[in-house]
Amino acid sequence: MNRPSRLTDLLADFFEDANRAGVTDLPAAPALEPVPLTEKALRADPGAEPPVQAPDDAMAKRPSQTPLEKTLAEIKPGLSTRAKEAILRDLARAVSACVLCPELVANRTQTVFGVGNPDAELVFIGEGPGVDEDRQGEPFVGRSGQLLTDIIVKGMKMRREDVYICNVVRCRPPGNRNPLPNEAACCRPFLDGTLRTIAPKYICCLGAVAAQNLLQTDQAIGRLRGKIHDYRGIQVVCTYHPAYLLRNPAAKRDTWEDIKLLLRRMGRM
Ligand code: SF4
Repeated sequence: MNRPSRLTDLLADFFEDANRAGVTDLPAAPALEPVPLTEKALRADPGAEPPVQAPDDAMAKRPSQTPLEKTLAEIKPGLSTRAKEAILRDLARAVSACVLCPELVANRTQTVFGVGNPDAELVFIGEGPGVDEDRQGEPFVGRSGQLLTDIIVKGMKMRREDVYICNVVRCRPPGNRNPLPNEAACCRPFLDGTLRTIAPKYICCLGAVAAQNLLQTDQAIGRLRGKIHDYRGIQVVCTYHPAYLLRNPAAKRDTWEDIKLLLRRMGRM
């Protein structure tokens, strides 16, 4: 026979004393709520801070960077001209290998990255390469390009080499159609990378596609022009695309007003 434990003896004495004292009933203990098994509850000392994961472990789980991600990670404020040239070259290389937009890839002769001064104060952005640009690999080289050159040289009294010129998409949309929203979105890292590298003070959007994509708005170009917008701290002026001006010469007057607004902001007028 098992010997009663010390606890059993104590309990028997307690109930005997209580009974002699006239206690016939004891209140029930409150029911205990189940405690969820959390990571904190399982720690030896639940009050202590959880262990910090070693940085090496965290790094080991990250996928390795693509060449484009590496190039974009090199873009920092205050880059030298040589560093900017190298980054723009790497971005252009990534663009030339890009196959994200199947219809544009199937129709392009070559990609059209951008051209101009990597230290430019002013960047012009159009919508996409046309037939001449696709053939020559440079933006704004056809009749529209000649009109843009006139605006820069005759109107602004600057040289084309002083500014930088690029487009929302770097491959020619077939039939000169507008770039589709998903094509513009796919090409956006190249546009943002170009602008972050050059770090201009001013941007001039040429036409609705450029203005709406850069500023992420669906407002008409007629409402966007004539005022200053902001893109990441850069002052933005929107005006008509030179191709539109060739079809509607009367709109040149409005564009000249927009260019004068830009020149005043640049302190050149
Ligand atoms: S338009 Fe831009 S994102 Fe699309 S295939 Fe050409 S380079 Fe790539």
